[in-house]
Amino acid sequence: MGFADKTLQCSDCGAKFTFTAEEQEFYAGRGYTNEPKRCPGCREAKRSQYNNARGPRTSRQMHAAVCVECGKECEVPFEPREGRPVYCSECYTKIKSSGRK
Ligand SMILES: [Zn+2]
Ligand SMILES: [Zn+2]
Repeated sequence: MGFADKTLQCSDCGAKFTFTAEEQEFYAGRGYTNEPKRCPGCREAKRSQYNNARGPRTSRQMHAAVCVECGKECEVPFEPREGRPVYCSECYTKIKSSGRK
């Protein structure tokens, strides 16, 4: 019993793609009875989408703080702690460029 190339239609983009004999054999060998529903392109897109969604950082959480230099409200990418001065980006750049720490 042999496998023959099959043309399937992608359920995502509607494109026709080939479910090759080798792939069918691979699927059968693994005990899969379902044919692939998506073309390789959509499968790849789905996979990278999934990986991106589970990525290490989606968006940085910002914390509200008050700048110790000018008293302006600002947001910092870390949790402000007591005894640790927080500077707004303006003051931070000013201090950095002036060489003061
Ligand atoms: Zn597709
Ligand atoms: Zn400031």
